[in-house]
Amino acid sequence: MPIATVNPATGETLKTFPELGPEETERRLAAAAAAFRTHRTTSFAERARLLGEAADLLDDDRDDIARTMTTEMGKPLEAARAEAAKCAKAMRWYARNAEALLADEVAPPAEAKDAGAAHARVHYRPLGVILAVMPWNFPLWQVVRFAAPALMAGNVGLLKHASNVPQTALYLEDLFLRAGFPEGCFQTLLIGSGAVEAVLRDERVAAATLTGSEPAGRAVAAVAGDEIKKTVLELGGSDPYVVMPSADLARAVRTAVTARVQNNGQSCIAAKRFIVHTDVYDAFAERFTALMEGLTVGDPMADSTDVGPLATERGRADLEELVDDALHQGATALCGGRRPAGLERGWYYEPTVLAGITPAMRIHREETFGPVAGLYRVDDLDEAVALANDSPFGLSSNVWTRDEAEQQRFVRDMEAGGVYFNGMTASHPALPFGGVKRSGYGRELSGHGIREFCNATTVWYG
Ligand code: NDP
Repeated sequence: MPIATVNPATGETLKTFPELGPEETERRLAAAAAAFRTHRTTSFAERARLLGEAADLLDDDRDDIARTMTTEMGKPLEAARAEAAKCAKAMRWYARNAEALLADEVAPPAEAKDAGAAHARVHYRPLGVILAVMPWNFPLWQVVRFAAPALMAGNVGLLKHASNVPQTALYLEDLFLRAGFPEGCFQTLLIGSGAVEAVLRDERVAAATLTGSEPAGRAVAAVAGDEIKKTVLELGGSDPYVVMPSADLARAVRTAVTARVQNNGQSCIAAKRFIVHTDVYDAFAERFTALMEGLTVGDPMADSTDVGPLATERGRADLEELVDDALHQGATALCGGRRPAGLERGWYYEPTVLAGITPAMRIHREETFGPVAGLYRVDDLDEAVALANDSPFGLSSNVWTRDEAEQQRFVRDMEAGGVYFNGMTASHPALPFGGVKRSGYGRELSGHGIREFCNATTVWYG
């Protein structure tokens, strides 16, 4: 894929960028290694000051960077502004909390004595240069969610961003430099996916984090495994959205729409499989379809738009294949199932609700990265749990029930990195984020996230 800004609302190539050659990549690797030697010795207060400065600059830049994101990947402009604001908030959260999250853990005196020590503690030290391979869907947030904790821990970052968001990628490097982080602390490498292996194998790179598809995760983790380097993987999801009879149905329906179409349906934690108890299925299906059908699809720069284009032509083709496969195998489109009329230039797709999904259909096991919801009818709690877990993915999950016994059952049995009751999954800096199964491993955000790229060092005093 060429490194270029291609407007998904029109299909027009606006700007292309040459890939970095080996010499420039080498220069940047050397700069990263040099920056780490200094950055690792700085105080939390100094790092917090710089990160706070970055947050302030990002707030000032919000409208401009939002327009850049919308131009590069098509999310509605208001959502892009909200993403920028969320990034500034996460930076401030880590600036405030990193020192406490990484405070030494002192062994209780009796335990230290038992270990033959006068006293002992765990001390968190940074790992080094971390390579971040990131996707286009939340082009600021996915990066900041890595960069804020990494920089606060004393690590430095190298960003290989998705090839279709180069201007957002370059903005991020510039932002951290303007905030005052020394050169080399955070750099963008404009390279294609084929150049990732050499960077990851470089001995100056200590670890990697990747957010994206399963094949990309597998490729990066295989190289990292070969090099015995730590990885965190945040891959796809096909999150269940379970609605039980005790649900507040009006709220469950409204939230279902947002949970499915946020970011034009291209979110790993979007609700994708709607598993509805038979007692409320008909009412849910009718109201949900009406709301999905009523969404405004169109120019992502327009305030009135609910759903913009998909980010890439390939992404829309993949989505169409999944829908066509389901329809050919007997699913019913309650709404959508096609490209919208009058929007031929961009990569648009109508909000779609499919009923009658069966395990034989691809859509049952694959990730739908676009505004397409699959509906399932279940007779009881056991069937709901079994169906929710019948997926290769295990990122997060949403359950609508006010019954406490049912809630406990879902907490115990959901094969996912999160269970959100009576609401939808959303990330927050204070809460760990990540999945199980093919959704990846490791956690981002919270104390769990910042410690992923630390050397938890046992310090023993005789
Ligand atoms: P990819 O997973 O291909 O891209 C994500 C990042 O990984 C990009 O920076 C990409 O670079 C890089 N990459 C891809 N392949 C490799 C590789 N072999 N080695 C190293 N780096 C690699 O996502 P796509 O854009 O192709 O989307 C395909 C599907 O992935 C979506 O339909 C969706 O199902 C899933 N996805 C999930 C995301 C999530 O948030 N979990 C985000 C994005 C996609 P480059 O752009 O240069 O190819």
